[in-house]
Amino acid sequence: AIEVRGLRKSFGELEVLRGIDVTVRRGEVVCVIGPSGSGKSTLLRCVNLLEEPTSGTVRVAGTEVTDPEVDIDRVRRRIGMVFQSFNLFPHLTALGNLTIAQRRVLGRGRAEAEEVARHNLRRVGLTDKESGYPAQLSGGQQQRVAIARALSMGPELMLFDEPTSALDPELVGDVLAVMRGLADEGMTMLVVTHEMSFAREVADRVVFMDDGLIVEEGPPEQVVGAPRQARTRAFLSRVL
Ligand code: ATP
Ligand code: MG
Repeated sequence: AIEVRGLRKSFGELEVLRGIDVTVRRGEVVCVIGPSGSGKSTLLRCVNLLEEPTSGTVRVAGTEVTDPEVDIDRVRRRIGMVFQSFNLFPHLTALGNLTIAQRRVLGRGRAEAEEVARHNLRRVGLTDKESGYPAQLSGGQQQRVAIARALSMGPELMLFDEPTSALDPELVGDVLAVMRGLADEGMTMLVVTHEMSFAREVADRVVFMDDGLIVEEGPPEQVVGAPRQARTRAFLSRVL
């Protein structure tokens, strides 16, 4: 589970998060929507301490990551993160991309790392691409490799920051299908997305952020289907 309480984040004079409370229970999928610059990525980055919160607390699977005593590398290993850009190693095959962190960070031997990697390539539908280099894969396939790489570390929860927004439209569906499969398997997921159909169909709850605050939160039928706040309606009328 993820529990964010009273989270504030400033960059110099600019307060980007102005008191955020979010809970993602175990096995839940929460989608975060909102305009550009509203603080969605900063929220995700505060969850795994890629950014240090200015104040407030973040608990991940019972560990308070904002506690200075905490070994943040250990916490990060329990969190899978997938970004808009895939950040694969260009000189490694798909299989190599999936095994390197397992070997270096988790200390797994080659045979075990490859077995885990092949299992996860199968999960994302890329069994036949294990020898492919990133440049030989489509954007959608590269993003699925990036998801499989995160899964190979055995995360307890996954953060996604607009994983499909760099993709050509015809490639978006395959990536969303993989994410939907993960949700069906019970993965705990916090997903920043512009894909309203995904939010509607997969999210347990949707959070609408604007200007560093949560304006509206609830089941997708409400937040996307029948928003109560004028700002949510205005945003949806632009993206739907
Ligand atoms: P988008 O939909 O465009 O990805 P977002 O909701 O993810 O937007 P953030 O990336 O969280 O927005 O940025 C929120 C605000 O914080 C923006 O005004 C941005 O310019 C600012 N910001 C983000 N990171 C930094 C940083 N490292 N230093 C200074 N300002 C930053
Ligand atoms: Mg962002």
